[in-house]
Amino acid sequence: MTQPVFRFAPSPNGYLHLGHAYSALSNFDMARASGGRFLLRIEDIDTARCQPEYEAAIYQDLAWLGLTWEEPVRRQSEHLDGYRAALAKLEAQRLTFPSFESRSEIARMIADRDVRERWPRDPDGTPLYPGAARMMAEEERTVRIVRGEPYAIRLDVERAMEWAGPLRWTETGEGPSGERGEVAADPAAWGDVVLARKETPTSYHLSVVIDDARQGITDVIRGQDLFWSTSVHRLLQALLGLPAPNYRHHRLILDTEGRKLAKSTQATGLRELRAQGVTAGDIRKLVGL
Ligand code: GLU
Repeated sequence: MTQPVFRFAPSPNGYLHLGHAYSALSNFDMARASGGRFLLRIEDIDTARCQPEYEAAIYQDLAWLGLTWEEPVRRQSEHLDGYRAALAKLEAQRLTFPSFESRSEIARMIADRDVRERWPRDPDGTPLYPGAARMMAEEERTVRIVRGEPYAIRLDVERAMEWAGPLRWTETGEGPSGERGEVAADPAAWGDVVLARKETPTSYHLSVVIDDARQGITDVIRGQDLFWSTSVHRLLQALLGLPAPNYRHHRLILDTEGRKLAKSTQATGLRELRAQGVTAGDIRKLVGL
């Protein structure tokens, strides 16, 4: 049997809170219990929001929780070439297209469509991409690219799904509506997702599937808020010929008002709790481990 490999993959765009502690400890405990490996990955592709200070805090907070991880830690910002190469492969398969619109142009298109009937939203509540860039004539694309106009690269989800056929994943946790077992992926629910941003040659979805494969991750344990993202991850894995890990999505730790925790919430931040004299053992109890 292959040795299980688990990972915790935070983004250094804020301080860790109880929800992160729950994910990190769950992965670490499962790795220990199964004789597996535990890896840490820093998801720092968003240079505008990620900061060295938050990355340093991640190491401190996890060490305080009693976690150890293998070195070197994989930092996504150091692997942009790998993401570019994967993107080039999808482009060569004609499964992507450049989209030149600005955020405000997209917002305007949605507002127009919402007047007629509510335009569909993705599982996170963001309106699906409405643009017609997918249909843009090859010459116009070339002219705009040569002119130096910035563009994002989107997945042509319809073509990609045709190419990949139906997909499922094995869920050993639970989705927001109790989904478990063999779950049918529904990538169309996300529309033509962004694979590379104007300012970054990758996106969360693209880098996460490449890294999970590169790091040989066999088991992904993460919050239920990412449950439906797995549909896009499965599609990208199929397109790029990457193996699918097992997925276990866990319940979210909510604040006292029942809201999802935000990185800025002082009351549940690990550093704030530590400063108040809470111990790592108390954190385990607080998250129900
Ligand atoms: N970096 C993501 C986050 O901090 C987690 C990615 C994942 O576990 O797939 O929300």
